Amino acid sequence: MAELSGKIAIVTGGSRGIGRAIALRLAASGADVAVCARNAEAAAETATLVAQAGARSLSRSVDVTDAEQVGDLVKEVSDQLGGPDILVNNAGITRDNLLMRMKEEDWDAVLETNLKGAFTCSKAVARPMMKARSGRIISISSVVGIVGNAGQANYAASKAGLIGFSKSLARELASRNITVNVVAPGFVPDTGMTGDLTEAAVEGMMANVPLSRPGTPEEVADAVEFLASDRSAYVTGQVLAVDGGMTM
Ligand code: NDP
Repeated sequence: MAELSGKIAIVTGGSRGIGRAIALRLAASGADVAVCARNAEAAAETATLVAQAGARSLSRSVDVTDAEQVGDLVKEVSDQLGGPDILVNNAGITRDNLLMRMKEEDWDAVLETNLKGAFTCSKAVARPMMKARSGRIISISSVVGIVGNAGQANYAASKAGLIGFSKSLARELASRNITVNVVAPGFVPDTGMTGDLTEAAVEGMMANVPLSRPGTPEEVADAVEFLASDRSAYVTGQVLAVDGGMTM
């Protein structure tokens, strides 16, 4: 039997990039998967791929910053698929600029999506997971949340915030057998977030990666799959860097 057979997962920002790879990996492992993003058609494309992998799927247009929309999604998932047993907080955005040029709205948008979005979604799944006395909450942070990055103060703050948030939640929910962990990817090109970088910028980044290559969405999905599975039952409050050694 597939490892995640019978489990119901929600992947936020599952419409493309790393989120889509995570949705497909969880489905390949036997989970039924609900994906959300603001763009309904793109989310539906992932749901179609999940269904082609043989899993039940559901997709919705949801803005993770909107608690009401998130609450409706969790209820719908619970009614139609069951669970949820696994939440992957993957939705994220960047609005890069140096501090002196960063607009307040760019600070707010990044913190709202990347950090408040994880709060909203985690709060919505916590009740059913507590009732079930089991669950997995996995948030996608970034190496930038660990070591910082000039021009990304808002993004780094949101991603560092996810780590503190997850460790606190891990302590709160441990007695209910719910684990809460973080995956911190390094540089994963060719997603919506990184597709615009020049070759020179990519080469510059690779100079700081001991394994001398970028990561892939599938390698991030591997880590998420492990943290979603029973194999990680004794792992909570941890940050797993999938970064080619960048932050060792
Ligand atoms: P993409 O831009 O390709 O995907 C981002 C996803 O998030 C999309 O599905 C997008 O859909 C969704 N999203 C954005 N805002 C919202 C919102 N308010 N509500 C719901 N969904 C939303 O990025 P990546 O795949 O590269 O990144 C995925 C995660 O991995 C992010 O959290 C990112 O910070 C993190 N990460 C990425 C790295 C990389 O190098 N690529 C490195 C380290 C971390 P839509 O726009 O339709 O809402």
